[in-house]
Amino acid sequence: MIPQAQALAAPAPGASAAKLLPLPFETMKFCSICGNEVTLGVPPGDNRPRYSCAHCGTIHYQNPNLVLGTVPVWQDRVLLCRRAIEPRYGFWTLPAGFMENGETTAEGAERETVEEAGARIELGDLFSMLDVPQVKQVHLFFRAQMLGPELDPGPESLEARLFDEDEIPWQQIAFRTVEQTLQWFFEDRRRGIYATHTGAIRYAARSQE
Ligand SMILES: [Zn+2]
Repeated sequence: MIPQAQALAAPAPGASAAKLLPLPFETMKFCSICGNEVTLGVPPGDNRPRYSCAHCGTIHYQNPNLVLGTVPVWQDRVLLCRRAIEPRYGFWTLPAGFMENGETTAEGAERETVEEAGARIELGDLFSMLDVPQVKQVHLFFRAQMLGPELDPGPESLEARLFDEDEIPWQQIAFRTVEQTLQWFFEDRRRGIYATHTGAIRYAARSQE
C-alpha cells in the first residue's frame, strides 16, 4: 500500500537553508550511518543541497520512490481494494505499493496485487506511468489478467471486489493516479486498443492527495 505521505518541505533549521531546499525535501538532523549531526549544503561538484555528515563523510541523497500497481481484470470487471490504512482509509484503490529493493517493477506490481487482494494474475504490459513530483513519487501500473475470480484481501485491505465500469466509486477513489489510470483504462477498452499512458499529477502545495 502507499503509506503515509511524506512530510512536504518541513521548515529547515535556518532561513538561508530553507531557501536552498528544493520541494519536496525531508528534513534530517542526524546521520543514519554514524549518528552524528548532519549539515545541509551543496556538496562540491553538485548543484543542489544535500544533507551530509562531516564525521563519516556520507552524503544523504534523497530521490523519488517508485509505486507499483496493477489494473487486474476478470471478465469485464476491474479489481479494486478498499484501504484499511491511512492515508485514505476506507477509500478504493488499485492494488499498489512501494517498490522493494531487489525486485523488478513487474515483480513488485505482482507482489502488491497478491498481498493486497490475494488475486492470482498474469501480468501484462505497462499501462500507465504518472509522475507525482510534489511527493517525490512515480507511479507505474501494469495491466493484469486475473486467472480466476477468487480474492483473499490482506491486512492492508478492508475488502477487495470486482467492479463493472458503471459501478466504479469515482467519488471514493483514494489517489489521483489511480483515478487517472482507471479513466485511461476504460477509454482504451472502449476503443479496443490499449496504449501506454504517461502523465503527471501536480498538487497544490501541501494538499497531498
Ligand atoms: Zn555519519
